[in-house]
Amino acid sequence: MEQNFCIQENKRVLFIGLACVDLFQILQSYPIEDMGHRCTESYWQRGGNAGNSATVFAILGGLAEYFGTLAIDKELQFIQQDFQENNVVAQNCVLIDKATCPLSVVIISLGSHSRTVLHTNKNLPELTIQHFQQKILQPDLSPTSLQYGWIHFEGRDNACEVAQMIRLIRDYNIQNQSENRSFKPIIVSLEAEKLRLSAELIKHDMWKLPDVMFISKDFAKSEGFQSMADAMQGFFPRMKEEAVLICAWGEEGAAAMSARTGMVFSAAYKPQTVVDTCGAGDTFLSATILALTKGRPLKECITFGCQVAGAKCGMQGFQKLK
Ligand code: ADP
Repeated sequence: MEQNFCIQENKRVLFIGLACVDLFQILQSYPIEDMGHRCTESYWQRGGNAGNSATVFAILGGLAEYFGTLAIDKELQFIQQDFQENNVVAQNCVLIDKATCPLSVVIISLGSHSRTVLHTNKNLPELTIQHFQQKILQPDLSPTSLQYGWIHFEGRDNACEVAQMIRLIRDYNIQNQSENRSFKPIIVSLEAEKLRLSAELIKHDMWKLPDVMFISKDFAKSEGFQSMADAMQGFFPRMKEEAVLICAWGEEGAAAMSARTGMVFSAAYKPQTVVDTCGAGDTFLSATILALTKGRPLKECITFGCQVAGAKCGMQGFQKLK
């Protein structure tokens, strides 16, 4: 039986992963090595996959929280203020002393629409299972004080810890369901976007863990799949029976698959002019989760994801999605 992904209206969706600072440099064509170039524009933005998804979720009217480590560095106030201005709860974040805030320089070429990301993360530690137990899911937490209806994990280098966190949620769900039949289990989603995650997913037996798995086009291609449909067919059997698999495929749109619905597709929704595709994947994920939390059919959920992601591609940043 496919799960019902509806969550109660007063419960938040928790996005776990990275929040960092992105410095955008926009120029007509991609720079030539060892030469000076004039950019047409540059700006700072708060970035990171989970940070972006939490922001979009809140902009679309959902209750969102971001959870991750944040460096006590000169950028901390900028990151915290951005979350606050966008109604994203970030008060449970783990603040790390003597660490440097991760930074991405994003080079956007207006001519080719390419986006080249140079990322530095010198020493910000990843979240641990202890952080998760202290701040989010204390062992004795009662279902009535539980804030979250859905917990999303951005697959990062702490795969071993994330696997433990998901198993903790699973145990919490099982325990509470056995005590109270009306208890609504916390839904878990996981995103495999980074190519280096592939071996970790297998090593920690993580394909079987989430209720909803998001796969990126780059990840699927690195595993040898050349189309959305091939990726669906290849990855779906790795998951637990009642899980849903979702894959975004850039300008071709997205696909999803579940045992009940089979494979469903959505075309991409192209804006009049493509302005900024950075964060399109994070936007797609957020909008799709929002639709799933409202119990919409799977095809409708990815169609909504593509519509919002397409609109995002027509604007700089996320703010005009409001
Ligand atoms: P990422 O940003 O992680 O690389 P994708 O490029 O796969 O993610 O894009 C995610 C979603 O954003 C796609 O499924 C599509 O709906 C939308 N999208 C991406 N690029 C475009 C585009 N040029 N025009 C319209 N929609 C797009």
